[in-house]
Amino acid sequence: MQETVLPIWKTVTKSLFSKSACKMYPAQPPVFFDRTRGRIEMESPKCIVCGLCAKKCPTGAIDLDKEANTWQIDRFKCIQCGACAEGCKPNAIQMVNQYTGPAVSKQIESFSVTPPKRRTKKPDEPPSVPAG
Ligand code: SF4
Ligand code: SF4
Repeated sequence: MQETVLPIWKTVTKSLFSKSACKMYPAQPPVFFDRTRGRIEMESPKCIVCGLCAKKCPTGAIDLDKEANTWQIDRFKCIQCGACAEGCKPNAIQMVNQYTGPAVSKQIESFSVTPPKRRTKKPDEPPSVPAG
């Protein structure tokens, strides 16, 4: 009995008089590192409606509706893997190091996106000749 109590007693007294190992959250604000995977942010004007992000998302958190021109993210499905941001060529999607605040209901954020205008040939325009 004495052999087991003595080491525990040493640990207890050491913990009692040493500095706290825990961060005093929320009294002390958390420190986010540059590469913290916090949340996905969308800059919808940069989006070219290519759909790569929705294809790459492993959890199906992104929904791109090309008919309605809307881009949606289900915050409850997103696991912050960053695959969508890595695959987005025009950098419309960014991984920021701040977390989404807690929520009690499902958070689906919706953004309007505009596909780039397709160049249409004028009726009297001559066919383009490849250079060289
Ligand atoms: S957010 Fe990026 S990857 Fe997703 S549809 Fe828009 S341009 Fe494509
Ligand atoms: S970070 Fe990952 S899980 Fe979240 S939307 Fe992007 S691809 Fe999907």
